[in-house]
Amino acid sequence: MSFNQLGLSAELLAVIGAQGYTTPTPIQQQAIPAVLAGNDMMACAQTGTGKTAAFVLPILHRLMLNHDQAGRIPRDGVSPRVLVLVPTRELAVQVEQSVRDYGRNSRVRSLAVYGGARIGPQFQALRRGVDFLVATPGRLMDHMQQRTLDLRRIEVLILDEADRMLDMGFIHDIRSIVGRLPAKRQSLMFSATFSDEIRGLAREFLTTPKSIEVASRNATAANVTQVVIPVERDRKKELLLSLFENRGLNQVLVFTRTKHGADSLARYLDKAGIRSTAMHGEKTQSVRTKALADFKRGKLVALVATDVASRGIDIDDLPYVVNYDLPHVPEDYVHRIGRTGRAGASGEAISLVCADERIQLRDIERLLKRDLERRDIEGFETVLAPIAQRRAGPRPGTRPGARPGSRPTNRPNRVPGQWIKSGPAKAANDSVERGESARRENVRSTGTDGAPRSGAPARIARSPGRFGNARPQGRRFA
Ligand code: AMP
Repeated sequence: MSFNQLGLSAELLAVIGAQGYTTPTPIQQQAIPAVLAGNDMMACAQTGTGKTAAFVLPILHRLMLNHDQAGRIPRDGVSPRVLVLVPTRELAVQVEQSVRDYGRNSRVRSLAVYGGARIGPQFQALRRGVDFLVATPGRLMDHMQQRTLDLRRIEVLILDEADRMLDMGFIHDIRSIVGRLPAKRQSLMFSATFSDEIRGLAREFLTTPKSIEVASRNATAANVTQVVIPVERDRKKELLLSLFENRGLNQVLVFTRTKHGADSLARYLDKAGIRSTAMHGEKTQSVRTKALADFKRGKLVALVATDVASRGIDIDDLPYVVNYDLPHVPEDYVHRIGRTGRAGASGEAISLVCADERIQLRDIERLLKRDLERRDIEGFETVLAPIAQRRAGPRPGTRPGARPGSRPTNRPNRVPGQWIKSGPAKAANDSVERGESARRENVRSTGTDGAPRSGAPARIARSPGRFGNARPQGRRFA
């Protein structure tokens, strides 16, 4: 199928051609005609599927339909006609940039409003008049409360990454905002996952929507290799570093669960010569924008991000995603993995999993409906005990003083950091008690980010071991 068959105007087709797009992606093939026809729509599509163009293009088409001789878009006063709600500032900026890019042959005026930026200039831009408004719910509420925004003439509402907005607790804001919109409007909702909560939201905000699903429910891209590396929690940093050094990883998006964890890991990698920076909600917008630009340009080898900060990061050809911590919400795994292997490129998603993350791993595998492949790294081997019934008494044959949850091996030395084993997900036939005590120990000895707490020195700090000696100091990747 070609873009010519979708019913878009010649102006838009010219822009699409200039962007170098030859074929509409599956979501675009289905969504563009439906949006042009004025339908409400519920689309299950991840970032990377071309979902932004799937709604921006047909809406631009409709806005441009009645433009005057000078190309001006008819507008009633200064009230916007299109409202896109997004979970994060990064996504707000990116969606608005897409509106500018695709709308550059038009006089459509767009604006992104989001927190962390000064409200004054946003207020002035709103006063001058905007057609296409992209906003995070919190900042939009601020504008509504300050009466600097009139939403009574919104014709189209788009909830982008609706699942993420729910996760971030925006539901009340979204209800208040939607409550101010005209009942007669077109509403579109995009979500990477199709949970029951999302279906409920669709029932609440959409009217007989057309349902579109481009990937199977909660699927990850087939061209992304996904592996799990079992590792003890306090050796994760060391293992990650060895992966960078021995496998020459470059342009890696690393996920941590906490902001503190992101900061601490980025510092650690940077000190070890892997140029890294952290990206999380406490960083200012300008710092986040710069970090992303540096990462895209290859000035940074690793970007260490929390889930929230990573939303909307749009990087073509991102080759690696590392889950330094597994997310608590299994759907977040799908979001994270969606950052790599876009547009058919191959990608690799590596999860470093310790004993106290076995439940998250199980939940992710249930969601994906398959087991992820386990691989051991020489020098870091450990066994993730299965989650099973608690059994009374010590496990027969447990070595006195052995580290719970781990099983050191007597393998001969091999090149550190290399894959040494691959096979289907299989845990040792181990008792739960071991896993539970491992969890307890991890709770005792590590902080929330997995960094050792004072008084509980981590193994890596006590002994640099083979890696400490083998590592060329200050090595940098281009
Ligand atoms: P999105 O899913 O909206 O985040 O888009 C992911 C990337 O795909 C963006 O960098 C777009 O520029 C690109 N893209 C969107 N539509 C197409 C298309 N039809 N052909 C090639 N690339 C596209």
